[in-house]
Amino acid sequence: MKSSPFSDLLKKTSHIHFYHLIFLVSVALAVIFCVFTVVQSARLGETEKQLSTLRGEAARANQLQSELQDLTKKYDEVSNRLAIKQSFSSTHTDNGAKIAYLTFDDGPSKNTGLLLQTLQQANVKATFFVIGLNCQEFPNAVKEEASAGHVVGIHSWTHKYPYIYANMANFKQDFTQLHDYLTAQLNTPPTICRFPGGTNNTVSKKYTKEPIMQEAVDWVEGMGIRPIDWDADAGDAESPIPTKEQIVQRVLKEIGHKNDPVILMHDFGNRTSTIEAVPLIVQQLQAQGFSFGTLSASTPSTLFKPVVKAAS
Ligand code: ZN
Repeated sequence: MKSSPFSDLLKKTSHIHFYHLIFLVSVALAVIFCVFTVVQSARLGETEKQLSTLRGEAARANQLQSELQDLTKKYDEVSNRLAIKQSFSSTHTDNGAKIAYLTFDDGPSKNTGLLLQTLQQANVKATFFVIGLNCQEFPNAVKEEASAGHVVGIHSWTHKYPYIYANMANFKQDFTQLHDYLTAQLNTPPTICRFPGGTNNTVSKKYTKEPIMQEAVDWVEGMGIRPIDWDADAGDAESPIPTKEQIVQRVLKEIGHKNDPVILMHDFGNRTSTIEAVPLIVQQLQAQGFSFGTLSASTPSTLFKPVVKAAS
């Protein structure tokens, strides 16, 4: 059949329509693909953002947990220290009993034997705050003191202010060395100590940029060891060396009307006037109705009576 011009036109037109359709479908698919890709990318970006936020929150949670652990630890430490402080002071009984505490710092010395003999004759017990280096020089002294019924406490290994009060690391090193030494010598850890110069030692400020005294007291108490100062200074470390009569008078004056004085004296190797004064002090105080005791972590009313003037 011969084609008419009309059918030719129709053929041509439908051909064009077909390609046109293919083109439109392709464009549509491309557009859909692009939109899909853009949407997916946006979603991916959003998810990554959320992931990153979650990671940040997780890190923050970890940090908070760690901070919480630190705070809990600090709280426990403070609670422990508070409990120790309370146990120190809770035994205070102001019942008017007159009891005096003789304390001897800075020994042992070559006179320790004589001092122990004198205390035995006077039938009183005392408390010794010893220096580690002197213990090494007189290795049997602290055992003799303890076996005679006296109490041995920590004073300092070196007693060198420029070293021990320079910083906490030095203080701890010096203190721990004597603590461990006495624990080994006496088979029991010491429970009391006396800071060289007292807990409010103003001289220590010369040797440090930041005063460490309060931190040192807290640290010592945290170990369950009680620092004990004094409230009656015999003045026997002063220069010139006082006579036994001067020491007795000074002690009586310093005691005044106190019912439970902690008397500061020294176990020095270069003088015997302190030892000679001991029987006289005992006699005088006994005449006033005093008995004599040794210090312990629970001794009533001897907690923190620091003096401004430093001991030697
Ligand atoms: Zn001392």
